[in-house]
Amino acid sequence: MLESGLTNAINSILFILRIVIQMISPQIIRSSRKSLSLSINENADLVVRAPHRVSDDEIQKFISEKSAWIDNQQRLIKARLKDNLNQYSSLQCLYLGSLYPLKIDNSAVEPISFDGHVFTIANVNRETISLPLKSWYKKRFIEVALPRLSYFSDKHKLKVNQVKVKEQKTLWGSCSSKNNINLNYLLIMAPMKVIDYVILHELVHTIHKNHSAKFWQKIETIMPNYKDARYWLNENGYKLRRL
Ligand SMILES: [Zn+2]
Repeated sequence: MLESGLTNAINSILFILRIVIQMISPQIIRSSRKSLSLSINENADLVVRAPHRVSDDEIQKFISEKSAWIDNQQRLIKARLKDNLNQYSSLQCLYLGSLYPLKIDNSAVEPISFDGHVFTIANVNRETISLPLKSWYKKRFIEVALPRLSYFSDKHKLKVNQVKVKEQKTLWGSCSSKNNINLNYLLIMAPMKVIDYVILHELVHTIHKNHSAKFWQKIETIMPNYKDARYWLNENGYKLRRL
């Protein structure tokens, strides 16, 4: 059989396409799972989890069907990566939901101060900046947020045992079976309504130990627009954790 020039050209194009697809191919993790799943990691790369028996062609088909979702997620994560870089390079601090510039001034007397417009930090380099900032944030959280806890607790008869303020890797707050509440002081970077929401969320756990309809109803009667705060935290929570 004689191959036409056109067939040769198509074969060459297909060959090149295969190379390109391999170059942009995602990380594929095979296991004994039952279905295909896609996720985007923190570097905005596509990760596919697949059962052993699914072929590469089926995986490529699945990826092309989900391409709109993939593009959207990668765009969001790339924007976050850029945002992280910007915050670090221009040295800004988040406080109560607003970003403020941060100055390093080695002649400053206080280790850290804030005049309402600018943060000033003394005697640090960029690598150790998080230490004085964290202790400042913790102090402000105790000053600003704990009175809100007493306020909601008294007003709505939600009795707490002990309250601890600490940095937590994954939680904003928690409430134990003994009604001991932990609050993550990094929340001081969030707007006040978000801090109020987290405090109220944990306080309502003193009477409802789950996320039942009754739990959310109770939150809503006290804070009708709580969903705005929850949304803010979902969208911006990562900004509070990068210190
Ligand atoms: Zn909860």
